[in-house]
Amino acid sequence: MIITIKKHHDEILKTLENFRTIFITGCGSCASKCGTGNEKAVAEMKEFLERNGKEVLGSFILDSACDMRLAKRDLLKNTAFKEAQAVVMLSCGAGNQSVKEVSDKIVIPGLESRYVGSTERIGIYRQFCSICGTCILAETEGICPRTRCAKSLVNGPCGGFVDGKCETDQTKDCAWVLIFEKLKKSGKLQNFLNNYIKPKNNF
Ligand code: SF4
Ligand code: SF4
Repeated sequence: MIITIKKHHDEILKTLENFRTIFITGCGSCASKCGTGNEKAVAEMKEFLERNGKEVLGSFILDSACDMRLAKRDLLKNTAFKEAQAVVMLSCGAGNQSVKEVSDKIVIPGLESRYVGSTERIGIYRQFCSICGTCILAETEGICPRTRCAKSLVNGPCGGFVDGKCETDQTKDCAWVLIFEKLKKSGKLQNFLNNYIKPKNNF
């Protein structure tokens, strides 16, 4: 899912300085799971905006903000949405742009989109994939070096790791140590060493 964090409130206020009436749109998918686009987050944003002199005309949590069909269906006939001068989106950038695409509203991001992540537990997310378009997980025993190696190396380690930890951050495992351990265990190490992973397609 897309991992989002709350945007700095000062930044939101600055982008809203010319608008008084606001509509808040949340997202029932990724942002809700992150706690950034759910009912509680919408209520907090409403309270913050009102405390700062804005009038919140209404709010709605789309099942999935990045689905333009839902944005059309659930927002375009909403009177408060139509009347508000600006819309604050509590979703990822794709959700933000989906609402912009189907409406003529001023749409302001209320969140920062960080990365595609996996949930370890609520509030703890792991970045496993950078959506590169040329997946090499079959060659690297299911561990993505494009994402989990600090240098995105795809044909082996840089040699800087210390005690299995990355030279750029000693709190993180070196992705290549993890990959080599798995390759050894599955008997595929020699095969990997004889192989060459080509640069990814940029399309
Ligand atoms: S190689 Fe890594 S970044 Fe690319 S698609 Fe596979 S998991 Fe995602
Ligand atoms: S130490 Fe490992 S994870 Fe860190 S940059 Fe080098 S190869 Fe990549």
